[in-house]
Amino acid sequence: MNIKSVSIAEKIQEINQHLTPDVRLIAISKKVSVAKMREAYAAGIRDFGENRLQEALEKQEQLQDLDDICWHFIGHLQSNKAKPALESMDWIHTVDSMKLLNRLNKLAGELNRRPKICLQVKMLPDPNKYGWSSEELLAACPELSAVENLDVQGLMTMLPLGLSDSEILDAFNATRKFRDKINQTSNLQLSELSMGMSGDYLLAIKAGATMIRVGRTIFGER
Ligand SMILES: *Cc1c(COP(=O)(O)O)cnc(C)c1O
Repeated sequence: MNIKSVSIAEKIQEINQHLTPDVRLIAISKKVSVAKMREAYAAGIRDFGENRLQEALEKQEQLQDLDDICWHFIGHLQSNKAKPALESMDWIHTVDSMKLLNRLNKLAGELNRRPKICLQVKMLPDPNKYGWSSEELLAACPELSAVENLDVQGLMTMLPLGLSDSEILDAFNATRKFRDKINQTSNLQLSELSMGMSGDYLLAIKAGATMIRVGRTIFGER
């Protein structure tokens, strides 16, 4: 019997069937070759996400001919990498502290840039992850809405490992409700919800995700 391997294009097609016009698929290409990224591009992908700046910069160099790619940064960003991140990324999903936010805001003003950002929130306690707790984020809202040089678009979340499907759905729904609460109680107007990865993107879509970040389902195991 022939074992037919499923192409990157077929995997993207399969995911696309589950998307509505208000959900954007970001192909997470960390540790993936530029050849595979070109395959994904040929299949219609224009949003790519990377978690290491150095790797992202090298790939941008090699993919210069594809000039309509939208680049998303999805890794923990150290303050000392804020400048190159601002210079190269269209979105930063992982703004996870006031210190980083203030640094990005200051540099964005100096560089005359206005990147789109998401605030990384931990809806469930998780000592292994960066991000604000919901209480911390709520308390920071007045300060966040005073930020001038960043386009604060939404929330990004990652869930702890080992949850059941219904726990995952609950946590994603809680993230959407939390976004709505911020919009009602502060001057921030957040429209985006960056949530859902290979294992849980269908649940994230059900809960109202606007950006899903999918790596392995498209490109295979890393
Ligand atoms: C790696 C990564 C993803 C994609 O994970 P997959 O399981 O490969 O789909 C999504 N978001 C973040 C922040 C990641 O680091």
